[in-house]
Amino acid sequence: MHFDSATPFNHYPVDALMHVAQRPPHVFVRGQGSWLWDSTGRRYLDFVQGWAVNALGHAAPEVVEALARQAGRLLHSGPGLYNDRAIELAAELGRLSGLTRVFFTNNGAEANEGAIKLARKFGQVHRGGAHRVITFENAFHGRTLATMSASGKPGFDRLFPPKVPGFAKARLNELASVEALVDRDTVAVLLELVQGEAGVIEAQPDFVRGLRRLCDEHGLLLMIDEVQTGIGRTGRLFGFEHHPGLKPDVVTLGKGLGGGVPIGAVLAREEVCCFAPGDQGGTFNGNALVCAAAQAVVARVSQPDFLAGVRDRAEQLKAGLQGLARRRGLGAWRGAGLLQALELPPGLLAGPIAETALGLATDVETPGLLVNPVRPERLRFIPALNCSAAEIELAVELLRQALDRVEATRVLPASTAA
Ligand SMILES: *Cc1c(COP(=O)(O)O)cnc(C)c1O
Repeated sequence: MHFDSATPFNHYPVDALMHVAQRPPHVFVRGQGSWLWDSTGRRYLDFVQGWAVNALGHAAPEVVEALARQAGRLLHSGPGLYNDRAIELAAELGRLSGLTRVFFTNNGAEANEGAIKLARKFGQVHRGGAHRVITFENAFHGRTLATMSASGKPGFDRLFPPKVPGFAKARLNELASVEALVDRDTVAVLLELVQGEAGVIEAQPDFVRGLRRLCDEHGLLLMIDEVQTGIGRTGRLFGFEHHPGLKPDVVTLGKGLGGGVPIGAVLAREEVCCFAPGDQGGTFNGNALVCAAAQAVVARVSQPDFLAGVRDRAEQLKAGLQGLARRRGLGAWRGAGLLQALELPPGLLAGPIAETALGLATDVETPGLLVNPVRPERLRFIPALNCSAAEIELAVELLRQALDRVEATRVLPASTAA
């Protein structure tokens, strides 16, 4: 984003941070529910929520209370000792998913890294040393060296050579492209059921059914990266529940699980879990504080009426975005639950629209809107799962205002100019 160099935020020494992302100059200091405030007191309707992290919005009372209670009781006992919060959370996730063995991590990448390690161990123990994992073009699995190699994000292949070996890339929704890659060294398939970072691209039900069959035929593990789709985001507790009868071998979680605190998880079927003491660990993994927050999130999000509410809000957002797309000649809508995206027509870029939506907050009375330009030509909407009907309505209205402003300043391509 390119804002004027003179901003009310100039006194913050932002260069103290390594420059790893293009960020607007705004400095955020406070959040509540769907709202975020910057240091000048201006407010923003947050339809990004830390990239689908704050499942219950900013400063959710049940998360704040769980953290406060646990902070005064036990923060961390270390990976060499059990703590009650981690055991309770693992048992609950096992009960809800049917995947009864859990390893906690600090984020989504580490969860996928753990799943890849589990697959390689499974290959050593059960499959004569098979170790290769089939992943997908445009997939996103994280930013560790191995998960970057597993990802198919354009540009990742050129960063930080040499790549970690052991991954082969197939094409989503093309079963033959997966089949063609299966060989004696293949041990698992890892995929997102909705590719979020790619711009909200869904795996089709018949493709997923075919993948499960293919994995069964060849003794491969089916591993589903639910870092973005898990914990209610798609209107079911887990994204795989949209595929009736689907039984994954491994599921990874992150983002929404902690409601804003960093935690991820690897969930595995009992028969697949072959880690032995010493194979896997981490100093902070399963720490009591973050597990307490995740328990509060899971307790709320797993309620059937809460998930029905997510589906209602998702329908409302979809109708609002589709209406706007129709009236303004925008492109296709895509989505699953409260993970939605809007394609933009040629000449209209997501970055300037997101920048303009943020800039609608010209004073403390006038709200701005936070949306995510996930791709140059695609906007993503990932609000809190408990956002209100009024907030959805306001988000669509603010997006309309931002589009008005961008279009007013747009230089039309020569062929369409009168
Ligand atoms: C965000 C994301 C990751 C990486 O999670 P981090 O917490 O950033 O490490 C992995 N997979 C998917 C599908 C994601 O959306």
